[in-house]
Amino acid sequence: MRDAIDGRAAVAREDASYEIVPIRIALPQRDEVLVEIHAAGICHTDWNSLQWRRRFVLGHEGAGRVIATGPDVRRVQPDDAVVLNWAVPCGACPACTGGHENICERQSPVVAGPSSAGHAAIERTTCEGQPIERSFHLGTLSTHTVVREAAVIRINEKIPFASASILGCGVMTGVGSVVNVARPEAGSSAVVLGTGGVGLNVIQGCRIAGCTRIVGVDVQESRLGMARQFGATDGVLATRDDEGLLRAAREVQSLLGGGADYAFECTAIPELGAAPLAMIRNAGTAVAVSGVEEKVVVDMELFEWDKRYVNPLYGGCSPTRDFPRLIDWYASGALKLDELVTKTYALDDLPDAFEDLLAGRNAKGVVLFEH
Ligand SMILES: [Zn+2]
Ligand SMILES: [Zn+2]
Repeated sequence: MRDAIDGRAAVAREDASYEIVPIRIALPQRDEVLVEIHAAGICHTDWNSLQWRRRFVLGHEGAGRVIATGPDVRRVQPDDAVVLNWAVPCGACPACTGGHENICERQSPVVAGPSSAGHAAIERTTCEGQPIERSFHLGTLSTHTVVREAAVIRINEKIPFASASILGCGVMTGVGSVVNVARPEAGSSAVVLGTGGVGLNVIQGCRIAGCTRIVGVDVQESRLGMARQFGATDGVLATRDDEGLLRAAREVQSLLGGGADYAFECTAIPELGAAPLAMIRNAGTAVAVSGVEEKVVVDMELFEWDKRYVNPLYGGCSPTRDFPRLIDWYASGALKLDELVTKTYALDDLPDAFEDLLAGRNAKGVVLFEH
């Protein structure tokens, strides 16, 4: 193999646009692996990341095949199928040892640094002769990437790359927020606000956890249909003028004969930050899944009484525990992944993929690469 290979990638520009351009990828050193990307999931974070207004390779969800390894790589070898993971816990800090690897206090770098101490990232990709950053150090909307072996997890050959590619973000966040964080008892009731890519995976998590009533709430009838396909037992069609979803909450209560045991906010609409509290019974649990970070006015009566509200990062992900478990659930049929991939695109059709994303047409859109 030569000292670098030629590829193509979707590269964001300073003016919040993007273009598909040639890139060069250097061969892996030390504990790095060169991954030929076969599929990359598209999510709202990709669209929002254009607002970073700098040059970088787009994409943070992906799966592919290892085609070369550095001399210190031990866990994977060329030809292995892998899924990429942007959050690598250190395993030693108080958060990691306390069982919260997802909020590791010193996230291990996904790419190599010049020394083990100061982790200024070395990206092995160049674009127009200059080194270029990658989204979450992965930059999966690209024919190839180089990451440390800690950022890949080997998968078996039975899972299609398109289905595997979505594990590392929306599936992990949605399913993990239920099974790792809320941990409902079998027989519980749950309400899921917003049945987009993440909400559908919360519904799957609730089904796997044994919830017997799972109510999807959305403003699009078609999305409530998708919610049923993934395990919702009931649907409430909300309206955009329903402030704080208080009317929808009354419908949920009449459906369930009272508030739900659990409610999950998956809308990414700041004004709905307090809405899951309106859906739950006394001593129920509300979970913020979509990561709203804006200021929200909360009527404290919504907290009455004894309610809990948790705000987990990345579904409480512990990569070595969770990815094999998700793949086992896929193999047993409990976790639907193939069905989540509504549409696939070529890299050159990325504008269509973003348009469908913004219109809410897909459960999940995935870019496929021919190699
Ligand atoms: Zn740590
Ligand atoms: Zn994502």
